[in-house]
Order: sequence, then C-alpha cells, then structure tokens
Amino acid sequence: MKTQIESLKERALAACNGASDVQALQEARVKFLGKKGELTALLRNMGNLPPEERPLVGKLVNEVRDQLEQAWKQKETDLAASKLQAQLEAETLDITLPGRKPRKGTYHPLTLVLNEIKSVFISMGYQVVEGPEIESDYYNFEALNIPKDHPARDMQDTFYLTEHLLLRSQTSPVQIRTMERQQPPVRIIAPGKVYRSDADVTHSPMFHQVEGLLVDKGITMADLKGTLQLFAEKLFGPDTKTRFRPSYFPFTEPSAEVDVSCIICKGQGCRVCSDTGWLEILGCGMVDPRVLAGVGYDPEEVSGFAFGMGIERIAMLKYGINDIRLFFENDLRFLKQF
Ligand SMILES: [Zn+2]
Repeated sequence: MKTQIESLKERALAACNGASDVQALQEARVKFLGKKGELTALLRNMGNLPPEERPLVGKLVNEVRDQLEQAWKQKETDLAASKLQAQLEAETLDITLPGRKPRKGTYHPLTLVLNEIKSVFISMGYQVVEGPEIESDYYNFEALNIPKDHPARDMQDTFYLTEHLLLRSQTSPVQIRTMERQQPPVRIIAPGKVYRSDADVTHSPMFHQVEGLLVDKGITMADLKGTLQLFAEKLFGPDTKTRFRPSYFPFTEPSAEVDVSCIICKGQGCRVCSDTGWLEILGCGMVDPRVLAGVGYDPEEVSGFAFGMGIERIAMLKYGINDIRLFFENDLRFLKQF
C-alpha cells in the first residue's frame, strides 16, 4: 500500500510538472486528486487493510494530498507568470519607430501682417483700439464729414441693417469714438473687419483695415510723411521709397494716396506694379478741422493726421497672392505656407 501511494505521488508530480498549460494541469488534477481520482480510490481501499495499519496509511495519504495540492498551486502560479511573460514579449512596443506628431496650427497670413503692422506702430507709442462692427450712420458717415448725399452712402456699397444701423464700411468710426472719450494727445491704431457690397478677385464683402490717428499740438504734414516713411521701411525693407499723391477723402484735408516703390521689382517695373515701379498701399491726410470740431476739439489749438490701409492688400503684395478669396476659403494647402 505504501509503495502504491509513493508511486502515485511520483506519477502525479510528474504529470503536474509536465503540464504545459492551465487546461492540462486541470485534467491531471482531476485524474489524481478528483472525486473519482486515483488518490480517492486508494482511500476507499483502506477498508481492506488491517485495522492497525489504517491510521498510518491515512496519515500518509493526507500528507501526499497536501504535497500534491501544494505542487498544483505552485504550478498554477508558474503557468500564469509565464503566460504573462509571453504576452508581454508578444506585445512589446517598438520605441525606435518615429512618433506621430500632432499637426500644429499656424497664424493666418492676415494675422501675421496685422501683427507686423501693430508692432511697428506700438514701437512708435501708438495704442491699439477696437470698436463695434455694427455702427450707426452717425459714426460711420456723418461724424466723418460724409454728408447725406455722398455716394459712399449708396446701398450698393454699404450693408444697411436698418435706416440708421449698418455694418461699418471703414474702421474710421473708432477714431471718432476715441476722440469723444479722450482729450489730445491721441495716438491710436484701429484694426478690424469692415464690410462693403463688393466681390471679385481683389475685393471681398468682408475685409480688414488698420487705421491710424494722431492728434496733438503742432502736428503737420511733415509728421505724417515721416511716420509713414518709417512704417514703409519697417514693413517692406529699409530701401523702400514712398510717394505721396494728392487725393480726396471727406474727413481729411489735404489728403494723399501713398505709394511704395514696388517690392517685387524694386521700382524697375513689373506685372504686379503695371510697369510703374510703384504700388499704392494706403490713404492718408491731415484730419479735417470740421471733424476735430465735431468731437469738441479746438482746431485752432490741435491738429492731427490719419491714415488707413487694407490688410488684405498689404498681405497680397507681401506674399505675392493674386486672389483675395484665398484668405477666406480656409484651404490648409494655402494656409500652411505661412
Ligand atoms: Zn514692380
């Protein structure tokens, strides 16, 4: 009987250690330790033993059962560990692969140009001021010396919301609003969206302007020319020349259009400048005394200049873009280039 038990133990341990997976281990367990297993069968046969041997054999069987239970427990742990190890090896990440970079956004070309314009004027002591895009007829026209019968008020040019409210057609109302709030000296630039009923390759119904206004004692046309010359040099390069041509705006007197020497051909003449060597970039002038008086300033005491430019036009010249609609189509192939 004792030899039988020893032999069973040997075979059971061999089966346990030889099990290659959890299922084989479980099957071996049923074979040796299960209710109908070999060890249970041995216990049943104890009835055939002489009574004095029964306690000894019983003790031995229990010891073997404990040893086998222990062996199975250990084997289960080992199998689980090696399964995890195999899984870890199979799922190893190859960290030598290059990573996938998330695409980074870039500034819109109009923002880039506006930031440049802002930094030039901020360095000259100007403040950046903004105003509403829905304006009253008074601020958009009347206070700027644009009378009721002026063609700029035509429904064809301006988006009217009601009889008295409209989408501002220029950023100039911000000048009036600022002067109403503040005594001279005034030194501001006003960037923002403006709206006009117009659409083709160089006109968009919504576009961006920057206007500048300086009012103080003793301001002359020479200050205006010096300021804009410096601006042109900073924006387009130190060799840039400027040219002032007489013009007319209702809210400035005298008024001028400002050209810069062509940034493409440096004044030699090319397709972009229509062979003139010059590019028109902004309008300007000395603030009309009637505008100053309208906001309560004394035109005998102070004078000032104003200028305004389209940001799209500057960006088109700077980057060689020939269709204004590209700015607003949000095509990444275009926007990623800046
Ligand atoms: Zn040119």
